[in-house]
Amino acid sequence: MDFLAFSRICESLENTNGRLDMTAIVRDALSSLDEADLPLFIRYLMGRTFPDWSQEKIGIGPNSVYDAVAYVAGRDRRAVVSTVNRSGDPGRAVESLLAKKEQMSFFSESLTLGDIGHDFTLLAATGGSKSQKEKDRVLRRLFGNASPLEGRYLARLLLGELRIGIGEGTMRDAIAGAFSVSPAAVEHAYQAANDLGEVALIAHRGEDALYAVHIEPFRPVKMMLAKQGTVTEMLSEAGVLAAEYKYDGTRFQFHKAGGICRMYSRKLEEVTHAIPDVVEMLDAATPHDIILDGEVIAVRDGRPLPFQYVLRRFRRKHDVASHIEEITLRPNVFDILWIDGETLIDLPFAQRRERLDAAVSDAYVAPQLVSGDEEEIDLLYRTALDDGHEGIMIKNPRSPYTPGVRGKLWVKIKPAVDTIDLVITAAEWGEGKRAHIFGSFLLSCLGDDGSFIPLSKVATGFSDEALQEMYAALSGNILSEEGKMVHVEPEIVVEVGYAEIQRSPNYTGGFALRFPRFIRLREDKSPEEIETLRMIEERFAAQSAR
Ligand code: AMP
Repeated sequence: MDFLAFSRICESLENTNGRLDMTAIVRDALSSLDEADLPLFIRYLMGRTFPDWSQEKIGIGPNSVYDAVAYVAGRDRRAVVSTVNRSGDPGRAVESLLAKKEQMSFFSESLTLGDIGHDFTLLAATGGSKSQKEKDRVLRRLFGNASPLEGRYLARLLLGELRIGIGEGTMRDAIAGAFSVSPAAVEHAYQAANDLGEVALIAHRGEDALYAVHIEPFRPVKMMLAKQGTVTEMLSEAGVLAAEYKYDGTRFQFHKAGGICRMYSRKLEEVTHAIPDVVEMLDAATPHDIILDGEVIAVRDGRPLPFQYVLRRFRRKHDVASHIEEITLRPNVFDILWIDGETLIDLPFAQRRERLDAAVSDAYVAPQLVSGDEEEIDLLYRTALDDGHEGIMIKNPRSPYTPGVRGKLWVKIKPAVDTIDLVITAAEWGEGKRAHIFGSFLLSCLGDDGSFIPLSKVATGFSDEALQEMYAALSGNILSEEGKMVHVEPEIVVEVGYAEIQRSPNYTGGFALRFPRFIRLREDKSPEEIETLRMIEERFAAQSAR
């Protein structure tokens, strides 16, 4: 497929509002694609450049994109940046700059989805000292061959936000419609394969093929997530609960197959080299080929240390050995997804737990209480807090493992401070001695269609050090500036506390946080995992009920 045809579809989706109409446009497009284009079309339409499980990253910031466009349009970077600032949308700014260029040039090659895929792989593979030059060359060629409309979507794709509102749900339904299979089968295959592009290829072969999709080692699957809730509520639903400590550390997924071990973070990034000690412990803990889910914590004298200690280890790229001595890590395994070629995620949790106990040394398996007695569970909660943990997790013993789903099958119980994870989408320059860094931040939640919806500004709770850290994290991600406000790529997730959720006409989502306060950076979370507008509506309703 030509990238121009792809861009036209993007444009018509951008001009369409209803979800059903959008699904129909995507469905019709899918039916006409060949096997090579199908996965690329799906990934790109969702604003992703590689499969969700992949370690490949194009690693391009706004500055590289603006430089390439400046070169191609025969302008300087300042002119590009000021066009972006005026329009507030890098995509449309690039489009208008390329439109001026187009009047002058006569020769350019047409781009196909395959060309884009090839160049993205090249960008991801380019490393080392000469890498920036090579990346610049690829970007100039891409924008040099792009028509204005293609430029709009190419720029947005490179910057990680396509702004056409195709969420996973819409794509799932479109695939189901295009290949006459059920959305549930598509969802099932997606949970195991973790790439809707590949799932569409399988959907071609029918419903049974989708249900036969297996997890594969070294292709991490999304982590199952938890909601807030109460023991009483969960007990009345499930009768009996599996309760475990809620460890305040960092989530991991451990893969072992054919003598090779790899560790993945919650964002599914490989972290094997940052925590070789934990990898070794788990390797020794089982003779099986296996995929395990758990939380790693830092310990000193048998007690857990705050979460920041673990993050420090996950972040380290150099000098890992000396930090192993400083900070002792300990894995707590609480689930098993795959063993010796067998996918286990559809089994009820109680059965998975039996398989886990049989396969892994109990030194690293999280202790579990199975009980239908509320008092007994409350006692476990108090012990967890006394022992320095965050609270408890209660799980429905009959539940399958649902990758990427935040449902009520797992519920977290922790002391009542209301906190929320949101992504930073803009920042404002500080004042006085903070004039050279950012002083406040616009926080957004996730809409149904995958867009980011502003919810609140936060300016309190930051130490000077934290503000420096925020500046360092955001300054390379600036998309555009508007007065004192700077729009940034939605990448940095923060946890904030708040007193109340209120209705607000000032934000498009209709809600705002009262007294928001910065608590910590959540480098372990990706923007797709933050609070959704629906969850905020639920919180609002629960709060009104109280
Ligand atoms: P939250 O990050 O507040 O949404 O809480 C869910 C997180 O708690 C999970 O993603 C895990 O990283 C962590 N966690 C700690 N202990 C457990 C446990 N026993 N079972 C599941 N998740 C746990």
